Amino acid sequence: MNEDTDDRESEDSTTAASPMGTPVCSHCGSPIETTDWFPIVTETTENGSVVLHSFCDEACQDAWNRQQSDEQQQSERRQSESRQETNVE
Ligand SMILES: [Zn+2]
Repeated sequence: MNEDTDDRESEDSTTAASPMGTPVCSHCGSPIETTDWFPIVTETTENGSVVLHSFCDEACQDAWNRQQSDEQQQSERRQSESRQETNVE
């Protein structure tokens, strides 16, 4: 595919923080030992850009996944609540 083009773009935008730095867990924020295997989740935003989430282990990945679905449920609840409020007399 277009790997060359992708590399150039990611160097411009995403490597500002630390090109060779240690990734941190997206759930608990701990530095991740890159010598060991660690789970990575890629998320595609509505803009079409890909966001990388790395985790220290599967427990953190699982907890993060639950957090994401909780947030979705909460925003859905808020929408239905505001609908009910408009119906209150
Ligand atoms: Zn973690």
